[in-house]
Amino acid sequence: MAERMLQFVRLQQAQPEKRDIAARRSDFGEIYREFAAEAASQQASRCSQCGVPFCSVHCPLNNNIPDWLKLTAEGRLEEAYEVSSATNTFPEICGRICPQDRLCEGNCVIEKGFESVTIGAVEKYITDTAWDRGWVTPPKPRAELPYSVGIIGAGPAGLAAAERLRLRGYQVHVYDRYDRVGGLMIYGIPNFKLEKEVVLRRWQQFEAAGIQFHLNTAIGQEVTLAALRERHDAVFIATGVYKARDIECVGSGLAGIVPALDYLTASNRDNLGDTVAAFASGALNAKGKRVVVVGGGDTAMDCVRTAVRQGAASVTCLYRRDKANMPGSLREVKNAEEEGVEFTWLAAPEAFLGDDTVTGVRAVRMHLGLPDATGRQQVAPIAGSAFTIPCDLAIKALGFDPEDLPTAFGEPGLPVTRWGTLKVHHRTMMTELPGVFAGGDIVRGASLVVWAIRDGRDAAEQIDAYVKAKAQQALAAE
Ligand code: FAD
Ligand code: SF4
Ligand code: SF4
Repeated sequence: MAERMLQFVRLQQAQPEKRDIAARRSDFGEIYREFAAEAASQQASRCSQCGVPFCSVHCPLNNNIPDWLKLTAEGRLEEAYEVSSATNTFPEICGRICPQDRLCEGNCVIEKGFESVTIGAVEKYITDTAWDRGWVTPPKPRAELPYSVGIIGAGPAGLAAAERLRLRGYQVHVYDRYDRVGGLMIYGIPNFKLEKEVVLRRWQQFEAAGIQFHLNTAIGQEVTLAALRERHDAVFIATGVYKARDIECVGSGLAGIVPALDYLTASNRDNLGDTVAAFASGALNAKGKRVVVVGGGDTAMDCVRTAVRQGAASVTCLYRRDKANMPGSLREVKNAEEEGVEFTWLAAPEAFLGDDTVTGVRAVRMHLGLPDATGRQQVAPIAGSAFTIPCDLAIKALGFDPEDLPTAFGEPGLPVTRWGTLKVHHRTMMTELPGVFAGGDIVRGASLVVWAIRDGRDAAEQIDAYVKAKAQQALAAE
């Protein structure tokens, strides 16, 4: 092993510096600075090159982390990029937005008493360097195949499948109802976590690779699923989950109470230079307002931090459990706290107050009880504990469910689970409809970009096997 490795005994763990808080609050730029070359190499050298690397085991893509850490420590960045991009369509995006504390870094088994190796920021550094130096090239196939695949949804699952299939020589057509490629990476996740240029430059590469995008095309409306099945040898459904969960309480119909994704999409579109009427009118803009965000997940964190940047007068996050039981990443909670967000733990809305427009949220304190069958502590309201928070804009960030896809697609033969997600065969990823595969959030429920990439990668393999087997059968029957 190179002497350069195993440096964890000598070197402290470090993450890239965060920008100054006042600057962060006033713009939408990413909050982390890039590692300098020396720092990236030093941090990579802390890895002890485990024989069984638990970091890789717990990365949904099973990335060859020790290999690219070693190459980075040795300054062999082009090779590091080759290794990291072999398993990941978007290493620079995962390096930015994976919850590493729960995945690779959280499972790094460096000696007890030493902090885990910095993995995500090094992955980002390798790939950003690759972009700067022109090593990132369009996924070009060695030979063209006469088969075509239709992909519904240009989010990370659809794009990962598109990249893999194109590399194998397929004619790939991606359909999306939006006007831009990227799914939630473009219209959901805010700039301060993922600058949009990072997504847009990938889109250009995919186009240069010959992947054909059919944007502003909602499948089930302009084009049916049946038509796509006629047109292509296989179809991959990667439509994500978008039905916002609602709050059932008094006053929930008042103006000024908005779903999280409408709010975030308006902000992302504004940052992309689009004209958004509801943003310009103030309906989806927090400027000067007292904002209350209801929810404790990553979407809620994105909303509170967006509101800070839009110049809200105050931003409060209302969550019914405590900080330790939040579903969101603690790293994001910390960022939000640093940026001035106020958290009201163990409280839930009881009513929205106001005549036509919301002016306040009446909340009630909650008590954490015993865990239920799932192991999660249950919450119950504390009688007589109601209090009011003044509010001009209330944002509901309670999670997402799938739309009714069989109805939307006019395909009752598409079975769904009791949660409404699409049912697929666990190994082949195929639905009940022959040649129709599915993956990403529409199968898993709201999840992560890295899992969507994994599904896209696996689906491409299964689609390849299916199409080639079918072609062989046809040949044998001739
Ligand atoms: P999506 O990204 O949702 O893409 C689906 C695409 O399908 C969309 O472009 C949509 O327009 C298109 N589509 C839907 N229906 C149709 C139709 N009928 N016809 C044509 N096109 C259609 N994950 C992380 O890992 N880290 C984070 O920090 C993070 N932050 C998040 C913040 C927010 C606010 C949200 C909402 C999610 C976040 N996630 C994060 C989760 C992550 O974005 C998703 O898990 C991931 O994008 C799912 O990928 P997907 O390809 O399955 O679906
Ligand atoms: Fe870690 Fe995500 Fe990269 Fe895997 S893809 S190594 S989980 S940052
Ligand atoms: Fe290196 Fe940690 Fe992975 Fe072991 S678990 S190979 S020390 S990053």
